[in-house]
Amino acid sequence: MRHASALFFAAALLAAAPVHAADLAAGATAVRDKALIDPTAWKVVESLTTEVGARPVGTPAMMRARDWAVATLNGLGFENVHVEPFAAKAWIRGEELAEVIGPSPQKLQILGLGDSPPTPKGGLTAEIALFRTYQAMLDQPPGALAGKIAVVTQPMARTQDASGYGAMIVARARGPVEAAKRGAVGYLVRSLSTSDSRLPHAGYTDPPATIPAAALSPPDAEQLERLVARGKPVSVRLAMSSSVVPAAPCWNVVGEIRGREKPDEVIVVGGHLESWDPGTGAIDDGAGVAITTAAAHLATQGERPKRTIRVVMWGSEEQGGSGGAYARAHAAEVGKVVVVGEADIGADRVWRVALPAGGRDHPAAKAYAAALAPLGVVMASEPATRGGADVDGLVKAGAPVVQISQDASRYFDIHHSADDTLDKIDPAAMGQAVAVWASFLYVAANSDVDFRAAAKP
Ligand code: ZN
Ligand code: ZN
Repeated sequence: MRHASALFFAAALLAAAPVHAADLAAGATAVRDKALIDPTAWKVVESLTTEVGARPVGTPAMMRARDWAVATLNGLGFENVHVEPFAAKAWIRGEELAEVIGPSPQKLQILGLGDSPPTPKGGLTAEIALFRTYQAMLDQPPGALAGKIAVVTQPMARTQDASGYGAMIVARARGPVEAAKRGAVGYLVRSLSTSDSRLPHAGYTDPPATIPAAALSPPDAEQLERLVARGKPVSVRLAMSSSVVPAAPCWNVVGEIRGREKPDEVIVVGGHLESWDPGTGAIDDGAGVAITTAAAHLATQGERPKRTIRVVMWGSEEQGGSGGAYARAHAAEVGKVVVVGEADIGADRVWRVALPAGGRDHPAAKAYAAALAPLGVVMASEPATRGGADVDGLVKAGAPVVQISQDASRYFDIHHSADDTLDKIDPAAMGQAVAVWASFLYVAANSDVDFRAAAKP
């Protein structure tokens, strides 16, 4: 009898703690299948975008988003739900107007870029100097753009891996200071957009713009190209106002499911809670918040995981500050961070997963790959090196990072524009992303995989 009870006890332990690859794979598969049809992520992003809407840093909406985040995490059964305050600079949009003046007068659709200074009251009017590529503007010598509004109309490419955006981001981020160096008094850039919509797309500048700077809708950029092609000078009036809060109150909102065996070993995942102002921040980044929150919830619905899973809703990604604040606040904990990851590329299906350098040959990684196989996900042959702006600080401090890449082909049609709204989210596609995240969290939290081990030479 003693022998039988011992066997029974051992079997019960095994069921409770899936130490073998087969148990991990079975658990990951069950979590995956549940996540594919679970409505939690949709409910979260529907609630955030409907009840809070747009939530730029430095506005009352972000306070409502903070309270929403605390209530949502508590409502889903997360533990240790709390707010970690920090301060960040907030640029807040005012009135904006742009128009062609002269023989073909017409309004242009623009959105001021983050950190853009205002124009003088009444606006500024100047002849434009239009360049069809960013490099063509850079090729201009100092003084060549004196007194002009520089316009760059280079389009961005549609790509699955967001490399089209990566290639053009410099034109928005650095363009204003490069134009100013050459004497320009204003800067207009074709929106970093893959849509033919007339809605412009916002975004930050880095270093901060020193002259008034705005994004043009793609059709307006092409309209200016045609006007310039007629060979006569084209003048534009630009009127923009904005305000800056130098140290706006911001918050990272945190919730955990505490580990039962190694609660100090922490898996940190999340998305960013704030958004740009024109839309309701559905795909950027309500979806990332929803996907990671739902994944953590679903990965822990059975038994409490061995390790702690922590969800962070970062509070100032677009204009910067939340990742650095989080890394500083948690510097002493980095050695205990098992892995970090951020979902910040919309709501479409995952097509590739890159694991950290260490642990890629661990049975847990194999169990994970087996769970992903039917979802059409590629396991990257190279390890992940980056996971998003909010986890960069932890990664630089030595935390392993997972990169779960969603299909970005459609993302830049809408991101940072007034079209970033809930209806653009396909619940089935988002469910696939939740399944990929949830099964990852399950294997990482219920195995002894050490992603740091082999990462060290
Ligand atoms: Zn984002
Ligand atoms: Zn964004």
